[in-house]
Amino acid sequence: MVKILDGKKLAEEIRVALKLEILELGEKKGIAPGLAVILVGDSVASQIYVRNKERACESLGIFSEVHRLAENIEEEKILALIAELNEKNEIHGILIQLPLPSHIDSQKIISAIDPKKDVDCFHPENVGRMFLGDPRFFPCTPLGIVEILKRYEIKISGKKVVIVGRSNIVGKPLAMMMLRENATVTMAHSKTENLKEETLRANILIVAAGRAGLITADMIKQGAVVIDVGINRGENGELAGDVDFEKVCKIASAITPVPGGVGPMTIAMLMKNTTAAAKNI
Ligand code: NAP
Repeated sequence: MVKILDGKKLAEEIRVALKLEILELGEKKGIAPGLAVILVGDSVASQIYVRNKERACESLGIFSEVHRLAENIEEEKILALIAELNEKNEIHGILIQLPLPSHIDSQKIISAIDPKKDVDCFHPENVGRMFLGDPRFFPCTPLGIVEILKRYEIKISGKKVVIVGRSNIVGKPLAMMMLRENATVTMAHSKTENLKEETLRANILIVAAGRAGLITADMIKQGAVVIDVGINRGENGELAGDVDFEKVCKIASAITPVPGGVGPMTIAMLMKNTTAAAKNI
């Protein structure tokens, strides 16, 4: 019988613990963690993500402010806003909702954030520190995935972990974090010659490609653990992951659903990083 890895439930448990931590921080130090979110343009998906983050902050007593900027805004104006937020005492975390419009240099924008406030862990200094084994933060989605595995007591050490997708946000940092947990890591991507040959080797398969139905049951080793990071919207707005959930459930020992798997954990980890940033000032 496959075990459903319930990210929604875990995220709720994490929120309950964080709420107490935040109350204590307020009582002892008079600090409320603060998060600033910068949203450029009017992508529906980005707006939904930002609203979910706002709601999560509200429910925990984290102060939040959202800066909604026009799609055609100049890069200089975003940089000026970041400089302002870097100096603002009540803001401990700054998040740029990606992707940014194509006329904006995303790397330049991310690099302008004070690394101590980079709760997404995308700043080159924080990426470098994580790579070298001296992390300040871990990026939220990969951290959420590691938390799911640990909280369900799924052994990572010594296991063959195959990651499909090599983005800077998910695949690459996740590979580093899995190495840190002593997994044997393989990374697959769109140029991988025989994807099935790679995925069939996985004790733990993590898929972050953004391609609905990419992973079918014949690509799964019997008893593997499957983590589906993909979020794909169907014609009627319904959400689906990258994995053929129904059929893969018959082969895998454990699997995350979409929605209700990695997504809620990503937000919980953002709250955790923001609280940690407030504690560390
Ligand atoms: P991305 O930047 O578009 O990267 C996608 C990766 O998948 C690339 O490395 C690409 O390979 C690879 N890929 C694409 N098609 C493939 C194929 N047919 N076979 C093998 N590899 C393939 O995406 P991302 O930002 O990492 O996000 C990936 C998915 O996760 C999206 O659906 C996104 O919405 C979702 N996501 C979810 C959360 C969450 O909280 N649940 C957070 C972040 C992202 P190349 O490098 O060769 O192009």
